[in-house]
Amino acid sequence: MTHRFFRIPIFYSADHNLHQPQFEYDRGVQISYQEQARRIESVREALLQLTFTQEFQPDPALTVEQIARVHTTTLIEHLRERSEFARQQEQVMGQDDLYLYPWIYPLNQQMREGLLKSPDSAGCYAFDTYAPIGKNTWQAVYASANLAYCAALSVSRLEWRVAYALCRPPGHHAGNEMIGGYCYLNNAAIAADQLNQVLGRGAILDIDYHHGNGTQEIFWNDPNILFVSIHADPAEEYPFFSGFAEERGGEQAYEANLNLPLPKECDDQTYLHALSQALDAIKGFQPNWLVLSAGYDTCQADPSTFFNLTDDVYSEIGKRIGSLNLPTEIVHEGGYAIEHNGLLSARLLSGIIDSST
Ligand SMILES: [Zn+2]
Repeated sequence: MTHRFFRIPIFYSADHNLHQPQFEYDRGVQISYQEQARRIESVREALLQLTFTQEFQPDPALTVEQIARVHTTTLIEHLRERSEFARQQEQVMGQDDLYLYPWIYPLNQQMREGLLKSPDSAGCYAFDTYAPIGKNTWQAVYASANLAYCAALSVSRLEWRVAYALCRPPGHHAGNEMIGGYCYLNNAAIAADQLNQVLGRGAILDIDYHHGNGTQEIFWNDPNILFVSIHADPAEEYPFFSGFAEERGGEQAYEANLNLPLPKECDDQTYLHALSQALDAIKGFQPNWLVLSAGYDTCQADPSTFFNLTDDVYSEIGKRIGSLNLPTEIVHEGGYAIEHNGLLSARLLSGIIDSST
């Protein structure tokens, strides 16, 4: 297939705009919410300027049963119920734009059961303060997950070789029964589960700056899904508790998990070396598909992180990933250099299309 005939669909939903917390607590200090809606709109504008892309706004197709293949029904119900509670609270308090912030974290079942009966249960399934719940949060996270699912459906039917799901909120920090790090439902995991059901074994490559702890947890014991992540060393960077090299997979799936932690001041050359290792592992696994968790917070321009990747390297990253020549879904994750993310995602996608045959 040549460049001219190879098109890439961009799956997009405006519903992400319904979720716009105004602030977050960074080490206890209130700052503006970094995971802003504009992140997605700037990428959308840049991707739609490419000659080979076209936008799709899919109808809801993802069912709760399908979400429940990677998350507990308890977590799903909690997100729906807390969103509804936030709506009711707004009416009671005559307030607009209320978000329920996690602030009490139960450490055992007894604490959780007690807290769940209270109005302050936002922290029940949260591992940090970064995933507040507002009245439309469920609608936004459902729409985001639906994009990942619909893109996976189309790739699994071989309608497209490569598809881009412009997901927001992101997903890779969300675990089986756990929210945090701006993430509520794990979009990449929902996509991977669908691809695995139709096409059999496959791989997830996570190139966000932060370790995809949620995705690792969900597939920890699944021998059919290889999870490979290149990220900042958790010894010194978020999420701190997950992403170390010695985490190789559960008993049922030993060596189906590969973490490649890198030093904080990582440059292009160091990064590309790790990417080669990641791609060698993926080739060795002989997957039938790839999900790419694409975060752009690895770039030098990102205000919240420390890698020193140049803009040019994203084309090279795309080329190398595209040379795997697998049915591929790209799932949007992090990236906080808001106006810059469009340029980087366009380079990544152009690199992928340049090398795909
Ligand atoms: Zn990140």
